[in-house]
Amino acid sequence: MNFDCTEDQLAVQRMAREFADEQVAPRAKELDEKAEFPADLVAKLGELGLMGVAIPPEYGGSGMDYVTYVLAMEEISRACAGTGVIMSVNNSLVCDPLLKYGTDRQKREILTPLASGRQLGCFGLTEPGAGSDPAAMRTTVRQVGDELVLNGEKIFITNAPNADWAIIFATEDKEKKHKGISAVLLPLKNHPGVTVGPKEIKMGIRASHSSSISMEDARVPVANRLGERGQGFKVAMTTLDAGRIGIAAQALGIAAAAFRESVAYAKERQTFGKPIAEHQAIAFLLADMATELDAARLLTLRAAWLKDHGRPFSRESATAKVYAAEMCMKLTTKAIQVHGGYGYLKEYPVERHFRDAKITEIYEGTSEIQRLVIANHLLKA
Ligand SMILES: Cc1cc2nc3c(=O)[nH]c(=O)nc-3n(C[C@H](O)[C@H](O)[C@H](O)COP(=O)(O)OP(=O)(O)OC[C@H]3O[C@@H](n4cnc5c(N)ncnc54)[C@H](O)[C@@H]3O)c2cc1C
Repeated sequence: MNFDCTEDQLAVQRMAREFADEQVAPRAKELDEKAEFPADLVAKLGELGLMGVAIPPEYGGSGMDYVTYVLAMEEISRACAGTGVIMSVNNSLVCDPLLKYGTDRQKREILTPLASGRQLGCFGLTEPGAGSDPAAMRTTVRQVGDELVLNGEKIFITNAPNADWAIIFATEDKEKKHKGISAVLLPLKNHPGVTVGPKEIKMGIRASHSSSISMEDARVPVANRLGERGQGFKVAMTTLDAGRIGIAAQALGIAAAAFRESVAYAKERQTFGKPIAEHQAIAFLLADMATELDAARLLTLRAAWLKDHGRPFSRESATAKVYAAEMCMKLTTKAIQVHGGYGYLKEYPVERHFRDAKITEIYEGTSEIQRLVIANHLLKA
């Protein structure tokens, strides 16, 4: 067993860390307060090759692997979790399925600008009545001649207000339930029949914007179907298997930031004549935080490593996601405890980390859904 990263992986990690420390972290507080989409930082992520980390260079990506993607995601999310999710959606929910299921033309014309960061993508699965149970979706797609016609509404879609492309999941044959769902590549900007709603006002990850996408007879060529007719549910589920590794890495980043703040504060803050780090109750809190963060990092890297080696990783990515997300929520709660009353103030970054943490237990499958995935794997064995 080898726990070492390669030189190339470490080089990308260093580059992401430097960019995160120098250019992302100083902006994070303001981006959060103003709920501002960091267009310039996203463009720079593209220039650094971080918008298509595991996509081959011939399609605009960096040609690295998922372990590298995890390392980079942790660094960017440590600085700003909102910027982190903008990156993760483009990488794992959009570029990944385009690489896996796309035709040559889709890869050349749609994947390449997305993976190079010249354009931005989003993933449209959730609907008002279909979140954890996406097969209950009502959005329809009909083939009319050589066109596909979309009708329906997607909600909560991360990046939608800023995206050029959406992968929309829609039912082509309601009778066939999940086997009747297809995936369709839909241009979002100034496309007839498409309305992108206003950004939602969110508790955390406020630098990233989420909104609805409404489709009223929105037409695209048949060549924009991603994968086969009726293969959309599989496209969505396999994409989420990999996407969850990215969200686990986002949780690592948020937790790592809160941990670092807590250690620094505990060494500096004095009560009863000594730094609070010297009270064993606080030292043990820090020890627990470090232990759980380590465990989550190992689970996340294991899932990424399995994917990189072409091995099954669905259970392992769900395991990494549920553990890392719940670790992140617990750790950021402890971080506020270490900071006492100051931790409750907006002035201290742990308040933002605590708000950012919660979403990791919700999107790309709630913690309950991850447990369902894990249990299904255990019980079918
Ligand atoms: C900020 C944000 C960004 C998002 N980005 C995207 C995006 O980019 N693309 C996209 O498609 N979606 C996105 N989502 C949607 C997100 O994936 C869903 O909100 C999530 O999957 C849960 O669906 P729901 O909100 O409908 O909750 P519900 O499915 O209604 O679940 C409500 C509660 O019931 C529990 N529950 C449901 N079914 C079961 C069950 N069988 N067993 C046990 N418990 C169950 C859930 O775990 C949850 O606790 C985003 C959401 C948010 C808040």
